[in-house]
Amino acid sequence: MMEHMETGKQESENNNITQQIYQKLENIQDEMKNIHKEIDKIGRIMEENKRKRINSKERRRKRTQNRRMNNVCKNCGLEGHFMSECLIPRRKEKLISNGKSLVNMLLGDIIEK
Ligand SMILES: [Zn+2]
Repeated sequence: MMEHMETGKQESENNNITQQIYQKLENIQDEMKNIHKEIDKIGRIMEENKRKRINSKERRRKRTQNRRMNNVCKNCGLEGHFMSECLIPRRKEKLISNGKSLVNMLLGDIIEK
């Protein structure tokens, strides 16, 4: 039979293929190492970005806090809060449109009386 005669050739060919497969596996392992390095790098970048996002969130929060402290409420005319946070019922007319706050107007009323 032809198959029997070619067994030796077949075997060395098989060995050859096995060698090639091992070589390819080594290449793949090298590739995997590179991929792992890349994944590590990406992980570090993501971690870094997360920290930056938290930092900028914190900065934004502080900036808002700061703006609130310096804000003169357009509803009651007091500092330290925004009109949207004002506890005093909304006034229809703008009380500080002419530079007077509610407090000044009330004081004015009291002083006049
Ligand atoms: Zn207010």
